[in-house]
Amino acid sequence: MAIRKVARMGHPILRKKAEVVPESAISSHEIESLIRDMKDTLIEYNGRGLAAPQIHESVRIFLLFWDFDKGKKPFIQVLINPEIKILTQEKSTYWEGCLSLPGLIGKVSRPRRISVEAYDEKAKRLNFICDGFSATVVQHELDHLNGVLYIDHIEDMKDFSFTEEYDRFLNRDE
Ligand code: ZN
Repeated sequence: MAIRKVARMGHPILRKKAEVVPESAISSHEIESLIRDMKDTLIEYNGRGLAAPQIHESVRIFLLFWDFDKGKKPFIQVLINPEIKILTQEKSTYWEGCLSLPGLIGKVSRPRRISVEAYDEKAKRLNFICDGFSATVVQHELDHLNGVLYIDHIEDMKDFSFTEEYDRFLNRDE
């Protein structure tokens, strides 16, 4: 097990499109050990999600800290080669943070309902629907696989802040 260094904004790996994991490689030792490192890193940094490029591995894998089901124990969901479909033009707006932009937060609007398809770490097909905040988190992580950061979606730069100032001044008007 290993906690990996997280790439921060400005590192070119965060702006690269990540490679598809070949189906035959999904259950390989290499991918298994990468996922283990991603889990360790996600837990260490107390993140909500982590994409492989954030630990300098340009492959299409991300993890979600899944605590969206009320009354169910949280767990870490692994998504490999994920794809989404947007199910509504309706948007929801949330303040987003990112381990690659520590200490910062920004307001982003994204489609509020999506369907998600992916492989899990056992090469099993996953297929589920996300609504509201979970849909935002999935889209944020998927963006990382396409070289996109949440700041690219901020419409008004007044909605971009340090976390401390957000807590002091901005959090109260939501
Ligand atoms: Zn992020």
